[in-house]
Amino acid sequence: MKLFIDGKVNRYYIQTLCMIFFPGAKFSEDEPDDGSADALRMTVRKEAEGIYARAELSSGGKSASGEKLVRFSRDKTEERVEKIACGVAIFKAGKALFGCTPPWGILTGVRPAKIAEELLADSGDIFKVRDTLCKEYFVNPKKAALLCDIVQNEAKLIGSLGKRTCSIYISIPFCPSRCAYCSFVSYSTKRLLSMIDDYMVQLCKDIDRIFAHIRAFGFETVTVYIGGGTPSILSPAQLSMLMDALNRNTDVSALREFTLEAGRPDTITAEKLRVAVDGGVTRISVNPQTLNDSVLEGIGRNHTVEDFFRAYNIARESGVKYINTDLIAGLPGESFSSFSRSVDQIIKLRPENITFHTFCVKKASDFLRNGTEMYSRNGGETGKSVDYSQVSAGLSGYIPYYIYRQKNTVGNFENVGYALPGCEGLYNVFMMEEVHTVFAAGAGSITKMVAPGRKAILRADMPKYPYEYLNAEKHDKAAADADRLIEEFCATHFPV
Ligand code: SF4
Repeated sequence: MKLFIDGKVNRYYIQTLCMIFFPGAKFSEDEPDDGSADALRMTVRKEAEGIYARAELSSGGKSASGEKLVRFSRDKTEERVEKIACGVAIFKAGKALFGCTPPWGILTGVRPAKIAEELLADSGDIFKVRDTLCKEYFVNPKKAALLCDIVQNEAKLIGSLGKRTCSIYISIPFCPSRCAYCSFVSYSTKRLLSMIDDYMVQLCKDIDRIFAHIRAFGFETVTVYIGGGTPSILSPAQLSMLMDALNRNTDVSALREFTLEAGRPDTITAEKLRVAVDGGVTRISVNPQTLNDSVLEGIGRNHTVEDFFRAYNIARESGVKYINTDLIAGLPGESFSSFSRSVDQIIKLRPENITFHTFCVKKASDFLRNGTEMYSRNGGETGKSVDYSQVSAGLSGYIPYYIYRQKNTVGNFENVGYALPGCEGLYNVFMMEEVHTVFAAGAGSITKMVAPGRKAILRADMPKYPYEYLNAEKHDKAAADADRLIEEFCATHFPV
């Protein structure tokens, strides 16, 4: 897609706005305007009373335009005024060109709850927040109401946190096979899986290392999350080693939550879950994604619906306090009726948490070119599936408690966590809303330090791929850099 921008404006933001209507678009610079491709011609001007933006979108030989002047006001920074002006101009042009109204309006970020939270802090009135989301940000009223519910539910969970709390993330980037839609770094071939023993040795040393910082600066660890990949790919002995590393560093019984994202049902055994629960795990994810065997086969999940029910029963019998299950709306080959059957069956099981995701199309533009209804610009039946999951969960006593969005999801829809009241997955909220520091260990992990009041945020990352993580030189350099950053940040923001 070609961008022609007249005026000083954040180009990256303009690109993310274009992707509302052109999912998966790649942006070219410095190409002549020959009028042949998908294009945005944009003018942005600062005027005495506010910021004016005009957008003209072209695609398939047709064009449409939109414009907006947003006035300066005391409750908005100039950056916010500019974002709204550009967003509304592009939104109006896209709506006129394609005849569709994206559900999240001009909100493009991963964390839509943050905008609602800021609006609530300004006005203190949740009805006003809903109104502003609809009128200024063009968010569909249904989504605005969902966001307001989530912000209120999150506030209760966040409000209970002390100032010097933190969470831990442990990365296990290995899977038994690769799902067709996966965009994570996760090793799945036999040769790469043979690295796991060495990986665990290095990982446990890094767990000791991050806890040394936690003790030095007097943090209280409140949640631990073992994620992946597929953490339950570990053998009972490897899992036991991981539990030992955590138990020797912290009083696991004092944690508010300890999650093992088991994930793939084909890796779950009673013995592994016994080791996990004995080690202090209180929350396990068992993820079917769909209860439709032909769809599972199509996405390369390597397990069946029957495997899911077997694994779910093992998890229940393990005595773990909370079980989460993930479903994905909009998978290739899924229809509204097959997805809604999955939703009904999962709700019947009464897991404490259900996370409803929307399929993220890696190459959305290819799917759009194929022109299937599912991947049409407005998401086809996926919108109905997303609505069904949310309404059914609500009517069955579940409350929405966290939300995030990804680029290139079918129809621009969202991922929402639902819980039975009092059973919310805390790590998800604390991490997503950046309310406190998350110390991380393992390949591809990122320690994210958050100063009180979110006044400063700093990231320290470890090598992305397991083979780099196991390379002593690369690992030690990254660990030394992370140690230095953590110490400097904590000395400034958390002096002892
Ligand atoms: S289980 Fe998750 S991380 Fe593993 S291959 Fe599938 S999508 Fe990727």
